[in-house]
Formats: sequence, C-alpha cells, structure tokens
Amino acid sequence: MQQRFHTLVLGAGAAGLFCGARAAGRGLSVCVLDHSAKPAEKVRISGGGRCNFTNVDTKAANFHSENPHFAKSALARYTPWDFCDLMAKHGLSWQEKTLGQLFCDQRSTAVIQLLLDELDSAGGELRLSTEVSGVQHRDGRFVVETSAGEIEADNLIVATGGLSIPKIGASGFAYELARQFGHEVIPPRPALVPLTFTGAAKDNFAELSGVSCPIDAQARRGPEFHEAMLFTHRGLSGPAILQASSYWRETESVGIDLAPGWSVRDELKTAKADTPKINLSTWLARHYPARLADYMLTWPGMPADKQLANLSGADMEAADQALKHWSIKPAGTEGWRTAEVTAGGIDTNGLSSQTMESKHVKGLYFIGECVDVTGWLGGYNFQWAWASAAAAASAIDADRAA
Ligand SMILES: Cc1cc2nc3c(=O)[nH]c(=O)nc-3n(C[C@H](O)[C@H](O)[C@H](O)COP(=O)(O)OP(=O)(O)OC[C@H]3O[C@@H](n4cnc5c(N)ncnc54)[C@H](O)[C@@H]3O)c2cc1C
Repeated sequence: MQQRFHTLVLGAGAAGLFCGARAAGRGLSVCVLDHSAKPAEKVRISGGGRCNFTNVDTKAANFHSENPHFAKSALARYTPWDFCDLMAKHGLSWQEKTLGQLFCDQRSTAVIQLLLDELDSAGGELRLSTEVSGVQHRDGRFVVETSAGEIEADNLIVATGGLSIPKIGASGFAYELARQFGHEVIPPRPALVPLTFTGAAKDNFAELSGVSCPIDAQARRGPEFHEAMLFTHRGLSGPAILQASSYWRETESVGIDLAPGWSVRDELKTAKADTPKINLSTWLARHYPARLADYMLTWPGMPADKQLANLSGADMEAADQALKHWSIKPAGTEGWRTAEVTAGGIDTNGLSSQTMESKHVKGLYFIGECVDVTGWLGGYNFQWAWASAAAAASAIDADRAA
C-alpha cells in the first residue's frame, strides 16, 4: 500500500473530498483519509436529504468570523455558479427554494457521488475507517501516524470539520492539530442550533410545540433575520431562531418582532374603526395561530381582553410594544447534538486568506468548517467548504512533490 503522497487530506467531508479531487486534478498524488466508515455523512443528512449545496447570493457578509474579511478572497475565486457547473457536468439539477438557497433535485447522496467520482477520475485515493493518532513535522515533511501505519506527505490539508453532531464522526482533531503547530483557536460553540429554556418559559413553549409563525429575530451581536420561528418541547427553533443562535451568547436576550414588516398600532387602529365589537383575543387569533394568540394574552404588559372599541391609545401602544419587542432569555442551546455548524475555530490570523495555508508551517492548510468562518443557514456553509477547498487545492506547491 502506498504510504507516501504529495498531498494528504485529513477528513473526507465536503471540503476534504473536494480539495482532494482538485489537487489530484492538478496531477499531484493525493490521498484523502477519514476515520469514519462512510465519507461526507453531513452532505448526506444536509438539506433534509436534498443538500442545500450553495446560495446564489453568497457574500462575505453571510458569514461570521473574528475577521469578517477573511472569507472574501476564497469566495470571490470559487463562486456558487462554479459548483452549479460541476453539478450540471454530473447530470445533477437543482432548484432555488427561498432566499437564494439551491437544493439538489436528486438525493444528497448524488452530491457525495459527484465528489467521489471527481476524486477517483482525477486519480486521488480515498481511505476510510483509518484513525489518526498523531502528526509530526520532520525535515519539511508531515508524518501522520494512522491505524494503517505511517503515511508521509509534503503537504497536509486539514479538513476534519467542527464539533457538531459527534455521533456521525465530528471531532476536535483540527483544533488540537492547529494548537500543536502554534495556531490560536477561537473557542468553538454550537451554532445554527435550537435555543432551550427552563421554568415557566419552557412549560409555555412546550404547550405551543409545533406552532410556527414568521418573525424577525435578532441576537445582540448579529443582524436581524426575517424567517419562521417554531415552538418545540424544549424551547424555540425554526430558521429565524437558528440564525440568531449563531450570534447569541449565554446570559444574553434575543429580540423578537412578532409583527415583522407591519405596525400593530396601525392595524389595531384600523380594526377598531372597522370591527369595533370584536375582542382583542379575536383580533390576535386572526393574526396568529390560536394557541399562540391565547398565550400572548397572558403576557405582562399586554392589554386586557376587551372589545377593540374600548382599547385606549395606551392599550394599543402596549400591544405594539409587547408584540414587536418580545424579549426572550434562553437558558442555553441544544448543543453539539443538534447544532448544524460550529462557530469559532482556527483563528484566521494564522492563515493566508488567499491559500488557507498556515503562516507558521509551510505545506499545512486548514479548510472548511474547522476554520473560524461560519455561514448563515441556507447553503453558505457548503459554499465555504467548496471555496476554501478550491483555494487550498490551487495553491499547493507542486514542486514540493513526492
Ligand atoms: C444536519 C445538518 C444539515 C446541514 N445542512 C446543510 C445544508 O443544507 N447546507 C449547508 O451549506 N450546510 C449544511 N450543513 C453544514 C455542513 O454540513 C458543514 O458546514 C460542512 O459539511 C462542513 O464541511 P467540512 O468538510 O469542513 O466538514 P465535515 O463535513 O464535518 O467533514 C469532516 C470529516 O472529517 C472526518 N473526521 C473528523 N475527525 C476526524 C479525525 N480525527 N480523523 C479522521 N477524520 C476525521 C469526519 O468523519 C468527516 O467525514 C448541515 C449540517 C448538519 C449537521
């Protein structure tokens, strides 16, 4: 078995397979290695089985990182349309669902097959079920100790992802390796994850489990997200909440506007003139699912359930405040078990934004989710996987050849 390669890629996920294929396509000898028995498990479970493989509106502003500029170079050089071209080359089709999100018409396993075919046809090798126990850097080469013996490589690409969903192979390997080679790691935290609550809030939300409605959600450090919210047995979920969760920190509140894009005060004034005999509860039930409307009536600050004709200006102002400025204080998140991504990760200060190469060790690269670049919900994280992989693959020094 060949134990010496020009380039060894650790991690056969989205970023690792794509990087391996593109590097092998340059004529370099490449091996992609993974400890799991199956490659790209996260691609398989992504997008509800239809892989939301990119977003046509991708820009650096759709990512968070300690350095918001870091992702710009790679994203500019490998665009969503480049991956669409690759999909088309493999006979795959897609459709835009909402907000620029492109989903595969075929099952997400077709995207995995695309990645495997690209690697194979370029002459790259894939080794699964192979544990890595250590990496050394000797005489400018990397020596990787694995369950299948030592493998030597001139270039090492680390694409072992983040900590989310440990049951399908996630590990903190990339962070440990980065620290070993002198890199800083921004503390990883679960992102795109449901928010959990305790006490009365938890009980109330559990009662509403399954109810959803459009909202604007905003954590203190992030932008406002206009999408749906879903009540669950443990707390709040749905796209708007998942997006806000990526910016949320413990002890902070999340602001929710339950009347996104419309004025409660103005609507109530109009309703008071048009239908003065209906009660506030009826008006609420016309705008919200019945169970949610009932719950809203119990909120402190919400005016009592009286006929609209009897609502004062102050009552309408209070209803406006309550519905447009609902502030919730999560107790935590559902954690790594359900988080779609890991925020934080390898500090971009130690990496070249052009090539993803380490500034400390020549020939060492970090790509994909292990880097401190985290996309919003909606195909951005795969676009980062493709773009960072493409940047590294084209930058590998062919002259450091095996
Ligand atoms: C449920 C779910 C749905 C998602 N849906 C979408 C979506 O529709 N669109 C989108 O853009 N993003 C989605 N994401 C996020 C997306 O899947 C990730 O951002 C992306 O897969 C990251 O790619 P990666 O290659 O960097 O890491 P990964 O895909 O996580 O791959 C890392 C690989 O490294 C291997 N590995 C880990 N540790 C070791 C080790 N010690 N030794 C050897 N190998 C190791 C793992 O087995 C894995 O194969 C989803 C995530 C989840 C969890």
